[in-house]
Amino acid sequence: MNSSTTWPCAALANASLSSRTTLKIGGEVEVLLEPTDPEELRLAWMAAHEAGVPVRLLGGGANLLIEDGVLPGVVIATARMRRIFRLGDRWEGDPYMLDEEGGAEPAPEKTTGLVAWCGATLPALVRTAYDLGWTGLEGLIGVPGHLGGGVRMNAGGKWGELWDVIESVRVIGKGGEVFDLDRKDCSPSYRNGNLGDQIVTGAVLRLEPAPKPEVFERMKAYLAEKKAAQPVTESSSGCIFKNPDPELSEGRSAGLLVEQAGAKGLTRGGAIVSPLHGNFILNRGGAKAADVLGLIDEVVERVADKTGIPLEREVEIWRNEG
Ligand SMILES: Cc1cc2nc3c(=O)[nH]c(=O)nc-3n(C[C@H](O)[C@H](O)[C@H](O)COP(=O)(O)OP(=O)(O)OC[C@H]3O[C@@H](n4cnc5c(N)ncnc54)[C@H](O)[C@@H]3O)c2cc1C
Repeated sequence: MNSSTTWPCAALANASLSSRTTLKIGGEVEVLLEPTDPEELRLAWMAAHEAGVPVRLLGGGANLLIEDGVLPGVVIATARMRRIFRLGDRWEGDPYMLDEEGGAEPAPEKTTGLVAWCGATLPALVRTAYDLGWTGLEGLIGVPGHLGGGVRMNAGGKWGELWDVIESVRVIGKGGEVFDLDRKDCSPSYRNGNLGDQIVTGAVLRLEPAPKPEVFERMKAYLAEKKAAQPVTESSSGCIFKNPDPELSEGRSAGLLVEQAGAKGLTRGGAIVSPLHGNFILNRGGAKAADVLGLIDEVVERVADKTGIPLEREVEIWRNEG
């Protein structure tokens, strides 16, 4: 990469990525860009394209396995784009640039809408909806990451998915153009927002009023169930595999298939297949990406040998390409 390239936002050379992922694994990237608003994000994206280098988006790093070594090109991190706005029921202009009070022309009556930039964390969104006495996001309690990553992955589970409450998303297309996509024109599916290469800069979420104690009770119950079943306090990247088609797997989840293949507790270096939940691989300290990749291959092979079912990865892998 040309060392004289100037970037439109904060830029860090040879930035370490491991601390920016929940698995705490990964090498460095040549340049890390940290935009603070949607326009800086667009300019950063354009500048990286013009420099002709690979460019990747990093949210909360909660669904990523990044190889050790040096990742070529640019990573754009959304961590400084955390803003969440309450959508007034009367607003003019651009909803993504409103202030927290609901806009330049605050409305006395508010709708139950939120506008969030891509770096807003999912826990902050869940909390905000609860604080406002709204339902619709509590099913995402305990899911880490940012709105942008969540939209891309269609984060969620048995209590609901992020796309259930999305009214529209704002994206950057390949040529750097910014546009809004209505929910009805999108086809999110299981763990996939199906937005291709488009960059999510934010979203409008539509929620419903609900008694706070009821929302609280649901949050409490969901979180308790999640904590009992998943190693939520350990370093992981969430579920490694997607659940297979229930017809093919006779209703067995990926985690159960891993367990039945006897792969729980397998270790490589500092990595281990969680003894609690077969679909999680943990970094118990000092694990390398190669350890996790080796475990993934071994688990896939064991499950295929035992059941004939090909496990498909949910976690995304960033490779150094040599
Ligand atoms: C303990 C734990 C529990 C979890 N539980 C769940 C769960 O119950 N349900 C669930 O669905 N997931 C779960 N996950 C996985 C993770 O929380 C979700 O996949 C989350 O949506 C990832 O968001 P992120 O911001 O961290 O994305 P990242 O990991 O940073 O990135 C994931 C992908 O999204 C892309 N991306 C990031 N930001 C943008 C953007 N602005 N525009 C376009 N693309 C972007 C990245 O390039 C990458 O391809 C869990 C993870 C952990 C560690």
